[in-house]
Amino acid sequence: MQKKKTYLGIDLGGTKLLIGEVDEEGKVLRSKRYPSLIASGASQTEVMKDVVKCIEDYLKEYMLVPGEDFEAIGMGMVGRVDPEEGLWLEIQKPRMETVRSAEILSERFHVSSGIDNDVRSGAEAERRFGKAKGCDDYIYMNIGTGIGAAFVNHGQMLTGAHYCGGEVGHNVVNINSDVQCPCGRMGCAEALASGMGLHNRAVSLRQEYPYTALVFPEEGRIDGRKVFELAEKGDALCIRLADDAVKAVAGLLENFLWLADPEKIIMGGGLITDGRILERVQKLMSPMSTRFLKDGIEMTGLDSDFVGLVGAAAVGIRTLENRRGKE
Ligand SMILES: [Zn+2]
Repeated sequence: MQKKKTYLGIDLGGTKLLIGEVDEEGKVLRSKRYPSLIASGASQTEVMKDVVKCIEDYLKEYMLVPGEDFEAIGMGMVGRVDPEEGLWLEIQKPRMETVRSAEILSERFHVSSGIDNDVRSGAEAERRFGKAKGCDDYIYMNIGTGIGAAFVNHGQMLTGAHYCGGEVGHNVVNINSDVQCPCGRMGCAEALASGMGLHNRAVSLRQEYPYTALVFPEEGRIDGRKVFELAEKGDALCIRLADDAVKAVAGLLENFLWLADPEKIIMGGGLITDGRILERVQKLMSPMSTRFLKDGIEMTGLDSDFVGLVGAAAVGIRTLENRRGKE
């Protein structure tokens, strides 16, 4: 039996760096978690140096030889990324330098390497291993700390001129809203329905609801998933937050349908995967907007702990295929 092809995935998040081997069917063979330097405020150059060190550690620990034990490296990362040139353009303002990340990896490890941002990597995982397999027109939307989406139209993934395409959280979904978003607009979907948005709103409304059961930790954010759980139990603050979030997500998705006319919409991210939101969102969407979505709004079938890693590997495979196609 022929050995399955293997790829090295690097999932670079704000707080964690996950390195692992993924086979050609999307199965995670092994992985190791490292801390990410991004949260510490390090520059992109420092973060990249650390990523290289962690890969070296991983290869040493499992005695892996690039080119023999894996065919390519793919990295999915936070921030603005030019996947064609393999450039990491920024983490977020003011951390904006152009780092030739893909080139750094291929020069050091002597295999084809590719990078993309985390949301587009998730969409790549869906296309290669998940519910978008064989589908050329789909949208992948992720709701976690923020809200991001990847749009694939006739097989092409939208990136935009500055690789900001898909930052859909800053679509206004309520023109009469008094909820301020950090981007400067009022009533953005992200300010109403993301993990960060729910936290900020809960904090600002807390005085009005002294009897809420929602826990406000000393440090860090409220648990966004709890908002939906407590709303079902009748907690007034959580009902208000959850109702607005559900309306915001439904409005956002309907806007997408009219904009992009996809075959499928697949949702992922920490706030979605427990399923409480999706059912309510679908009920609010008009049959006219959803008439071409034969499977409704779908939840990712991929393991949320590893979707970043599997997506990174899928980006590595895509880069390798594109390079071979050009040769
Ligand atoms: Zn905004």
